[in-house]
Amino acid sequence: MSAFKAIVIDKNETGQTVELRSFDEADLMDGDVTVRVSHSTLNYKDGLALTGKAPVVRRFPMIPGVDLAGIVETSSHPEFKAGDAVVLNGWGLGETHLGAYAEKVRVKGDWLVPLPAGLTAEQAMAIGTAGYTAMLCLMALERHGLRPDRGPAIVTGAVGGVGSVAVALLARAGWHVVASTGRPQEADYLKSLGAAEVIDRSELSGAARPLAKERWAAGVDTVGSTTLANVLSMTKYSGAIAACGLAGGMDLPATVAPFILRNVALLGVDSVMAPKALRLEAWGRLARELDLGKLAAMTSSVSLDQVSQAGREIVEGRIKGRVVVEIS
Ligand code: NDP
Repeated sequence: MSAFKAIVIDKNETGQTVELRSFDEADLMDGDVTVRVSHSTLNYKDGLALTGKAPVVRRFPMIPGVDLAGIVETSSHPEFKAGDAVVLNGWGLGETHLGAYAEKVRVKGDWLVPLPAGLTAEQAMAIGTAGYTAMLCLMALERHGLRPDRGPAIVTGAVGGVGSVAVALLARAGWHVVASTGRPQEADYLKSLGAAEVIDRSELSGAARPLAKERWAAGVDTVGSTTLANVLSMTKYSGAIAACGLAGGMDLPATVAPFILRNVALLGVDSVMAPKALRLEAWGRLARELDLGKLAAMTSSVSLDQVSQAGREIVEGRIKGRVVVEIS
């Protein structure tokens, strides 16, 4: 196959174009492993790239898609050979390096991890960067020494991709999960994933006081801005919040009061450049700890020609759970 199907983002004088078209293998970027992609997924960042709403794409033309699962076709990397099932999350895929919404990619073997035992390619992409980031957040809270006996855990943006997986993982780990959402009609969905309480996100959206009534010991925040400021102000003494998202904004209108008066910690979580050892640990734990029935219940799928529309929906906050992109 010297040409293959891909979603291609390009830029002209009038703005950004997105089309599903044929792409020549000769135009792929450098890398020591070529992978036949079977599945990808839709993350918030992919929505930003597809809509051009934020400058995620750093070169044009670009094939978007930050996550892939597939089979190695050719490799000169010592750890991978033809036929190996692999997963890739981040490392600039779909931003600076031609990405996963394509039947083929050429990448650095150092970026790949083996498909975790016990997961299919489709399940790995149902998890995707969103789910792997939710696990990185849980691991950060645990590294901080937090355990479920310390009190409840809050998850913001709970109906979204990171949020849905975080609810399921924290509940499975024994936490009393408080799920915050702007979609109260999804309360039964959140409870089916393991949420013990569902609160309306308007409780966390007003201007934050320096300190408010202590409500939770831990949290996973996917929203940022005033939501994170409120979450911090309501965190119990010596608690911690893992912050990974900006769905509500990149600012943080907070005070230092929770840090200096309640010993609260703010734990930053990045998935894109996370070192390989951390990725392998996160994927191993996801394969063992995430309930695959719950994963299936939070997942829908689209084809490559439906992904642009789905990208618009995710930036409008209208996607529930996770979306797999079926490629080949
Ligand atoms: P989703 O769109 O699936 O989820 C985001 C959720 O946030 C929405 O479903 C909604 O939840 C809530 N939300 C959206 N807009 C607002 C708003 N204006 N105010 C308050 N809440 C809002 O995205 P993902 O789960 O894929 O990603 C979530 C965030 O995490 C994104 O900002 C993304 O960029 C970031 N991220 C960061 C990573 C990292 O490496 N640090 C990796 C992966 C994601 P509800 O309807 O329940 O209120």
